[in-house]
Formats: sequence, C-alpha cells, structure tokens
Amino acid sequence: MLHYQPQISLKDGHVVGFESLVRWRHPELGGLAPDQFIALAEDSGLILPLGEWVLRTACRQVTQWYSEGKNPGRVAVNISACQLGDYSLLDVVRTVLRETGCRPEWLELELTESSIMTRTQQAVSVMSKLRELGVQLAIDDFGTGYSSLAYLRQLPIAKLKIDSSFIRDVSENEDDAAIVRAVIALGKTLNLQVIAEGVETCEQEDLLRAEGCDVVQGYYYSRALPAAEAGEFLRQEQHHSTKAVTSEPESLS
Ligand code: C2E
Ligand code: CA
Ligand code: CA
Repeated sequence: MLHYQPQISLKDGHVVGFESLVRWRHPELGGLAPDQFIALAEDSGLILPLGEWVLRTACRQVTQWYSEGKNPGRVAVNISACQLGDYSLLDVVRTVLRETGCRPEWLELELTESSIMTRTQQAVSVMSKLRELGVQLAIDDFGTGYSSLAYLRQLPIAKLKIDSSFIRDVSENEDDAAIVRAVIALGKTLNLQVIAEGVETCEQEDLLRAEGCDVVQGYYYSRALPAAEAGEFLRQEQHHSTKAVTSEPESLS
C-alpha cells in the first residue's frame, strides 16, 4: 500500500505536497513498515519493480487529485540507491509520466544524500536528465551523509530535506539547533528550498519558522495517510486553510 504524508508551507500553512511512503500488508505478519522490507528488497533486486509500482501509484494518485479539482502540490517519491544506479530509471520515469498523465511538475523524487555521494558522477548525469524532464529533485536525509559541497552546488536539485534526527531534540539541544540553522542558511545561499521532516511539536515548528525553514512535515500535522484520508485532509485544509486534522495513529499491525 502507499500512504501519503502532507508537507506544509510555513509561510501560509497550506499543503504544498505529499510524501509517498510504502507499507506492506503481509498475509501472515500483518502490517510491515518499510524499515522491515526495503533493505531486503534492495538485496534481492525486487526494489526495481517495487519502486516502479510506487512511482506509478503515486503519479496516478496525484493526477487523480488534480482531476478532482484538488491542489495537492507535488507528490514526493523515495528513490533507493539501487534505482539511482540503474540506467533504466529515466525510461521508467518517462513511461510512468506518460501512462498516468502525471505532469512532470507534479512529481518530486527524493534521493538520499548517501546514494548521490557514493556514485556522484553517474548520479549527476541521471539527475540532470531527470531535471530536463521537468521533475523536481530533493536531497533526503540531509546531514547524515558526507556531502561534497562542491558537488552540492552542481547538482540540479531544488530542495534539501533536513533529516529528522536533527529535528528530534532541536528545541532542547543547542548542537542540533546549530546544525539546523546552518543547513537552512546553506540552503538559502544555494537557492534551495529547505524542508524539515519529523516535526512533532509546536516548539520545533516555532524554531524552524524563526530560522527561515520553508516547509515542514511530521506527526504534528499528520501521519502518513491512506489515499482517501489524504484526499480528505486536503479537502478540509483547502476549505479553511488551517492545519492539523488529527487522525488515528497509523496502525501497522
Ligand atoms: P524517510 O524517507 O526518511 O521517511 C520519513 C519517515 O519518518 C517515514 O517513516 C515517516 O512515516 C516517518 N515520520 C514522519 N513524520 C514523523 C514524525 O513526526 N516523527 C517520527 N518519529 N517519524 C516520522 P516510514 O514510512 O516508516 O519510512 C521509513 C523509511 O523507509 C523512509 O525514510 C524511506 O527511507 C524508506 N521508504 C519508505 N517508502 C519508500 C519507498 O517507496 N521507496 C523507497 N526506496 N524507500 C522508502
Ligand atoms: Ca524520504
Ligand atoms: Ca529521513
């Protein structure tokens, strides 16, 4: 199954996108979180068909929302290192966009910092071609890898996503706050949008807003929701443009 977690602009509180997050409803084991099967899918090579299914499902969903007159912004899809290392990624993206009717500007791909930096040359060339298609790129888990700042400047990316490990204690821990401040400043300097993930409290939001972070995502606003509930979240938000429609905690088992 694919769930969708809203991303909210700190400027006006509007939903500007959704991150798609995969779940596995296993017949015997019940609901499984991605941490329990993504690594296995990568080792077995199944990540390629799974990743394609995720991409197709997300593109179909965002296209459906637009056709219903909703404004979901962009749908973000996580791309694993194996997919980025596979030259067919470009063809897959092109085909899926064509088949689903999804416009390139409705799609964002999240590439982790480590998957880009371990094979920079190839990553840069694939990323440039994706960008030429009109698809937006974001660096995920930013701050957990070892970014070459020289490469960062060259990469055709639009967004930095600050890893949730820095957000968790940002209100109490001066070191984390300093890192978050520095990443936001780096993003501004390089003309990139900055999004913080794992935002759970009002204090975290206040700090991120004060530092100039653009977009936030986390349980404070909503869990990742099944498509129907995500559509409902959007409908309510676009009716009174307020945040935080609380839903039942996502149950995985
Ligand atoms: P990620 O890309 O860093 O995704 C963010 C994770 O943080 C998600 O976990 C999300 O549910 C969780 N999260 C969101 N808000 C909060 C919050 O406020 N607090 C806390 N503590 N957590 C929050 P999830 O869905 O379990 O996904 C885990 C990881 O699995 C993702 O990390 C991503 O790396 C991977 N993943 C998920 N879906 C896909 C996919 O379709 N393809 C690939 N290749 N990887 C995926
Ligand atoms: Ca992600
Ligand atoms: Ca992360």
